[in-house]
Amino acid sequence: MTKPPSDGARLGTLAVHAGQEAEPMTGSITPPIFQTATYVQPDVAEPKQGFDYARVKNPTTEVLERKVAALAGGAHGLVFSSGLAAIEAVVKRLSAGDHVVVEENTYGGVIRMYTKVLAKLGLEFSFVDTRDPQRIRDAMRPNTRLVHVETPTNPMIRLCDIRAAADIAHEGDALLMVDNTFASPVNQRPLALGADVSMHSSTKYLNGHSDIIGGVLVVNDDDLAEDLHFVRKSSGAVAGPMDAWLCLRGTRTLHVRMARHNENGLAVARFLEGHSAVERVLYPGLESHPQHDLASSQMSGFSGMVTVDLGDPARARTLATDTRLFQLAESLGGVQSLVSVPALQTHASVPEEMREAMGITAGVVRLSVGIEDAEDLIDDLDQALS
Ligand code: PLP
Repeated sequence: MTKPPSDGARLGTLAVHAGQEAEPMTGSITPPIFQTATYVQPDVAEPKQGFDYARVKNPTTEVLERKVAALAGGAHGLVFSSGLAAIEAVVKRLSAGDHVVVEENTYGGVIRMYTKVLAKLGLEFSFVDTRDPQRIRDAMRPNTRLVHVETPTNPMIRLCDIRAAADIAHEGDALLMVDNTFASPVNQRPLALGADVSMHSSTKYLNGHSDIIGGVLVVNDDDLAEDLHFVRKSSGAVAGPMDAWLCLRGTRTLHVRMARHNENGLAVARFLEGHSAVERVLYPGLESHPQHDLASSQMSGFSGMVTVDLGDPARARTLATDTRLFQLAESLGGVQSLVSVPALQTHASVPEEMREAMGITAGVVRLSVGIEDAEDLIDDLDQALS
């Protein structure tokens, strides 16, 4: 269970302090990296404080789990080797014949895992536009056990009304999982809005330094947490202790970084919106975003993810290659600004028809706006666009 430093501590205080105490032997203020595979036991089948094998438990990972749980406002955190492994663990609780309703514009790797790997095992998936809660309702079946939404989505910055989705899932016999990667727990807290599982690819904002791959789930329900622990120890997708420690270090500054990502994201989006070379800017903090009201009601900041439609693949490619500060690379949420063309990179595995229907064309560019000086980022985009 999470022990916040004091009742009512705010997010920044939780980011720095939650889940960790000085190491008891030396008083080290930084939690040690328990780089071990196993633990010596005092007697047969008598592990010390439940530590018997590191696929089951690791003290460094547990510090991260307590901290992320506190940030996401949940009782239990579970750390995985990647964001996809975290999602897979939730789906692995299901049985052949069960059905999942999933946002169609979710990260391309999720679509690939669902359609090419998990569908073969007898699970059924319906991909729907979850901007409209009625579409979720229409897709529900008696065998639906999970509704999986991503909000904002990657890369088209679509939003789903989390409260409405939770109500629909719970009217059936389904859980709601929200992929909160783009928002981070600083900007959006899905559990408080009724979701059962708040999921993050910690590769992105939580770690924030583009130096690990990781995933996190946060839940409130004790039985659900126990189930997910069981799946993880049985399947093995645990994080290495060093990665957990790096993520822990990154997470301590999450609130400070997110404040800057939010500020820079808005500044870049406003600049691009006024630029003649740009057809459309998608950013939830812009009044022109079709779901800006929903964004303002369920998010407290809008993050650093900005998508621009240049209406032309050649111009998109030029923007991606001619920026000097924005590095051409997949991934997002790190301190350094990145640029990518999702149709050719992160979402290349999504069937073309599906991509085109959602507007993910080769003219669309995704920016992960970092924490550099906004003026420099804007100058960089300006020179690349002209
Ligand atoms: N969810 C979203 C929104 C993502 O963008 C990604 C990866 O880009 C994932 C999940 C998968 O996470 P990972 O790459 O850590 O497996």
